[in-house]
Amino acid sequence: MTAKTAQAKKIAKIELHQHLDGSIPAAVTWRIMKRYGLNPVESLGEMRKLLQLQPEEEGSLLSYLDKFHYPMWITQFYENIVEVTLAVVASAAKDGVKLIELRYSPMIHVYAGLTVRQAIRSVLAGLNQAKEKYGIEVGLIVIAMRQHGPHVAKILARAAVSESQWLHDRTGVIGFDIAGAERGNPPSLFSKAYDIARKGGLGLTAHAGEDEGPGYIWQAIDDLGCTRIGHGCSAIADKELLRRMRRDRILVECAPTSNYQTGAVAKGERHPIFIFLENDVPVALCTDNTTVSNTSHSRESAFFWDELGATTIRGIHQQARQHSFIGKGHPPLNGPS
Ligand SMILES: [Zn+2]
Repeated sequence: MTAKTAQAKKIAKIELHQHLDGSIPAAVTWRIMKRYGLNPVESLGEMRKLLQLQPEEEGSLLSYLDKFHYPMWITQFYENIVEVTLAVVASAAKDGVKLIELRYSPMIHVYAGLTVRQAIRSVLAGLNQAKEKYGIEVGLIVIAMRQHGPHVAKILARAAVSESQWLHDRTGVIGFDIAGAERGNPPSLFSKAYDIARKGGLGLTAHAGEDEGPGYIWQAIDDLGCTRIGHGCSAIADKELLRRMRRDRILVECAPTSNYQTGAVAKGERHPIFIFLENDVPVALCTDNTTVSNTSHSRESAFFWDELGATTIRGIHQQARQHSFIGKGHPPLNGPS
């Protein structure tokens, strides 16, 4: 651990954008694979290469998404999902994270017979246990995969609302998101699913502007009602959009390592977070996927240590707390929508 990472570890961190599947510690995936005889290779070292993006695989969102293949082998069973959720939160708590919003798409965890409802509740069970054990604030964002289309997204939005935190008064679903291949899947396609999620009191975010231009971010804001944007890198090309995001306090969930790995930000290019900060657009510092990106919460917070300094980084996390969906459960179903 570098000196900067060690200092960043001491900062109380808020994690608003972390995928469960992409963050399972390699040793935990390995342990579960061995238990069921599912390991595709003979050593943990080889397994790590399959789970972590390798330098020669960098530069495209689609290669990045390929890394979610092996975690899916073990996350089709209720007990395993509880186990990996606990492991992911444990590792975040150890790294100085005080609040964590995990995200996950239930629809790709039903291949062995779980229902969508069970696929959601297994993560919630893990989160509830982790909350007790580590005293950390937790919540789940349900993701609809864009490639599954708008109809499946509506089904997921309904399932997410039925497990929402405000409805059950315990750790529950706090938000709704779309992810997966961005090109050719404009956010506006999913407006009905977002209507359901909004009326059901869920916080709204969307992966947008990672592999597409600012037009997709406009749609996420105007057509979906998002108050947070995942990555949002291309927003910096549109001054009017930056003004809008500042005015409406729309937060960008930044994940530096991931952004350079997927090519959302070209190697050697200045990260958009600086433009967001200069334009008073709220930002969060997130990991996206600790395993795929081979990073940690402290490392992402230390990424711009020299340029931003400890005070600004601490301030970013304090502000991110205000944008968390946890504890914001609102709306009476028969109230104004
Ligand atoms: Zn993401």
